[in-house]
Amino acid sequence: MTTLTPVLTRFWDEPQSWTLETYLRYDGYQALGTAFETEPADLVEQVKSSGLRGRGGAGFPTGLKWSFLPKPDGGPRYLVVNADESEPGTCKDIPLMMAAPHLLVEGAIITSFAIGCNHAFIYLRGEVVHVYRRLMNAVQEAYDAGHLGKNIHGTGFDLDVTVHAGAGAYECGEETALLDSLEGRRGQPRLKPPFPAVEGLYARPTVVNNVESIASVPSIVGNGADWFAGMGTEKSQGFGIFSLSGHVTRPGQYEAPLGITLRELVDMAGGIREGHQLKFWTPGGSSTPIFTDEHWDVPLDFESVAAAGSMLGTRALQIFDETVSVVHAVARWTDFYAHESCGKCTPCREGTFWLKQIMTRLEEGQGTQDDVDKLLDICDNILGRAFCALGDGATSPVTSAIQYFREEFELGMHTPWWEAYPPERSALFPVANKETVSA
Ligand code: NAD
Repeated sequence: MTTLTPVLTRFWDEPQSWTLETYLRYDGYQALGTAFETEPADLVEQVKSSGLRGRGGAGFPTGLKWSFLPKPDGGPRYLVVNADESEPGTCKDIPLMMAAPHLLVEGAIITSFAIGCNHAFIYLRGEVVHVYRRLMNAVQEAYDAGHLGKNIHGTGFDLDVTVHAGAGAYECGEETALLDSLEGRRGQPRLKPPFPAVEGLYARPTVVNNVESIASVPSIVGNGADWFAGMGTEKSQGFGIFSLSGHVTRPGQYEAPLGITLRELVDMAGGIREGHQLKFWTPGGSSTPIFTDEHWDVPLDFESVAAAGSMLGTRALQIFDETVSVVHAVARWTDFYAHESCGKCTPCREGTFWLKQIMTRLEEGQGTQDDVDKLLDICDNILGRAFCALGDGATSPVTSAIQYFREEFELGMHTPWWEAYPPERSALFPVANKETVSA
């Protein structure tokens, strides 16, 4: 039986967990002292050998990404923390920044020292003004304590941290769109390569890492790479925050080693709500193909989830019981992608628009004979052809839901979802009448 591994979440229940005072009681900023006594190159090696992989969803090895930075040429290089968490179902970075902002600030200082950066940015999702205030407060506390600014603790190392709130576009979580937005332009993705490590913010070498990745760095430096690598599986090492939402008794954040299963997590969350059964779930947010009750025991690590046909993604486990219409749930996600497509490339801009039209017809019981195949055809024309991952992500819930629940989509040719799933059956989507649905 796998147990929880509270590291990042270890003091979230403390009153005022976000203050410097509380953080210091939980060994806050001790890893920073250790880092300053270590050669920057050795810190990069340490993170590399810990096996930490990007916690923003893609799972790219963090230390390897740092090592891609070209040799210093006297010009600036940057750290940009991607705090633009917006993937439907994903809700780990925002709670982390609310409960423990100093974990992120300390991680950002250690990372900046390791990569030789003197100006780090935290790019935050625009809507979360409360998180902005909390981060600003933590950054100020760090300046006041001498952890930021000039000649930090007499090391000769200077670092400034800027917290920047975006304007609330999902696309700005894509790292190059984020960089464009940070530079003051419209947030649209850039062609890669060059990757940001070579040419990023202001065309300078830039490391872009997710909040949880950076917040994990102090624990690696403080406890050692082997400690971290000793958790999880052979290729997916360490721990991660699993966010359980939907039809479980106790939704919330569960920090556990990678490789834990849905069965174990749902047990810890008090089970599926009483009297109901699991129908489908996402392993890593809405951009990852859905799973069903066939997948209770898939180890939630990068390799096992991929082998079972999905992606670990952001470990956003959205759990739906038998009362939910899969067509209705997928249509909500499709609405989201059509709304958030940045419009730069044709497959995504047009494709998500058409997915939305057809999903709406099927939801309302007005689908045509060939709508299901048309959905698959449109997905086929988006997948691998869009400029960034948004397009691919939009296809995942559609194709996987058709794979497992084709008959429900076919029902959409004549039966609206609210007749197939009357309101008394649906607790998660209580919208009950056609007028509201169409609006
Ligand atoms: P990606 O695999 O293209 O890149 C991952 C990271 O590795 C990037 O930082 C990239 O620069 C780096 N990288 C990859 N190859 C490289 C190379 N050869 N040289 C240098 N650096 C290299 O994935 P992506 O498009 O950045 O992200 C897609 C993921 O984002 C999806 O898997 C999804 O789960 C996740 N996602 C997360 C959210 C959220 O709210 N957290 C939202 C949408 C999507």
